[in-house]
Amino acid sequence: MNKLESTVTASQSRVQNEGNSMNCVICKQGTVAGGFTTLTLERAGAVVVFKDVPARVCDTCGEAYLSEAVSGRLLAAAERAVRAGVEVDVRHYVAV
Ligand SMILES: [Zn+2]
Repeated sequence: MNKLESTVTASQSRVQNEGNSMNCVICKQGTVAGGFTTLTLERAGAVVVFKDVPARVCDTCGEAYLSEAVSGRLLAAAERAVRAGVEVDVRHYVAV
C-alpha cells in the first residue's frame, strides 16, 4: 500500500511540472500561462514583427516562452523574408 501511494504522488507531481502553470525564470515572481505575444526578429538587416504568436507569457514581466516548434517556424519565416528582400515587415503568425 505504501508503494502504491508513493507512485500516485510521483505521477501527480510530474503532471504539475509539465502543466500550463509555472513560475517565470526571469523575474521569479510572475506566473507563466498560455497566451499570445508580439515578437520582433532581426535577420541580416531585415526586421520582421510577428503578432499573435502563441506563447506562454509571464503575467508580471511579460517574458514570453516559445515552444521549439513555434520559434523554429518564426525563424524560417524570417529567413524567407530576408531572401525576398524584405527590410521591415509586420505579419500575423500563421500556424500551419
Ligand atoms: Zn516574469
